[in-house]
Amino acid sequence: MTKVHNFSAGPAILPAEVLQQASEACINFDNLNLSILEISHRSKNCIAMVDEAKDLVKELLGFKDGYQILFLGGGASMQFAMAPYNLLRTEGTAGYVNTGAWATKALKEANKIGKTLVVASSEDKNFNYIPKGYEIPTDLDYLHITSNNTIFGTQMKHFPKTSIPLVSDMSSDIFSRKIDGNDFSIIYAGAQKNMGPAGATMVAIREADLGKTSRKMLSMLDYQVHIKAESMYNTPPVFPIYVSMLTMRWLKKNGGIEAMEKLNQLKADTLYAEIDRNSMFKGTTAVEDRSNMNVTFVMNKPELEAEFDKLSKVANLSGLKGHRDVGGYRASIYNALPLESVNALIEVMQEFEKKSS
Ligand SMILES: *Cc1c(COP(=O)(O)O)cnc(C)c1O
Repeated sequence: MTKVHNFSAGPAILPAEVLQQASEACINFDNLNLSILEISHRSKNCIAMVDEAKDLVKELLGFKDGYQILFLGGGASMQFAMAPYNLLRTEGTAGYVNTGAWATKALKEANKIGKTLVVASSEDKNFNYIPKGYEIPTDLDYLHITSNNTIFGTQMKHFPKTSIPLVSDMSSDIFSRKIDGNDFSIIYAGAQKNMGPAGATMVAIREADLGKTSRKMLSMLDYQVHIKAESMYNTPPVFPIYVSMLTMRWLKKNGGIEAMEKLNQLKADTLYAEIDRNSMFKGTTAVEDRSNMNVTFVMNKPELEAEFDKLSKVANLSGLKGHRDVGGYRASIYNALPLESVNALIEVMQEFEKKSS
């Protein structure tokens, strides 16, 4: 098989050995001579697997007691609704930091459930920076942030300091850098960016923050129902949970978050340095807010894009097309993407510069 450098924004690259193990489990899981796809989610082996996944999340994010880990369906987009549904009181207000398309969608759902306040926004500059120095009212039910903006290529390097419950969508930078999970009330992440295949969303919840609304809750949208049922109120997305668990094992084996953060920093620094050096390209975001996961850049002469795309294709670079809201290019350099792939992209950028200037 030709080696393809996969820069897809999501669903995204997974470690080769994880794909190998996952494919083997599709035939024979845990030496049961049964596929992971055809066993009961209530079987001993499956429960042990889901428990291991939860424990790995707790370990990797450093959660102390009082946190519950769920794996739910519905994508991160379902959490746009579930977070306000579970935390926002009828008489309360939820704060939102609007840093991009996903944050806007989260806000839109919350608006259907209750009162919201946009505490800060970077919409004025097409979300090319992270707002800073804003006031956070202390009477909000929670503050919602998006730690990494997958589409616009910005990332919060520091999280807001506040006494109110902090809810973060970490879909595109979960497990990419050291954070203290205990600073958050809820962390959620769709698996398909940095953790596993589409279909499962990890939700970590500080249990003490639940149960404060008077809302009559639909069962499937009620975190407490899922907690009580240990993520098995209904059939959970077993296979995506399994692959996410394998990815977490891989992460741990390779030095954990600390080693991953170092490598991610190196990959990002290397690529941004080339974008800044290369006369044909420029970055699209404020330098201090540049994402270490989704590197967005545009061409100084967009009419030459087809030429660059041709060179990229020959070099087996895949998934570089920018989101339509930004244009140009986006290299997603998630945990599983090796430095070697970043270097392959840089070589093509340099070859293109030589040919074009
Ligand atoms: C991809 C993404 C989402 C949407 O995830 P789905 O699982 O498709 O619902 C939400 N937030 C962020 C930051 C994302 O990158």
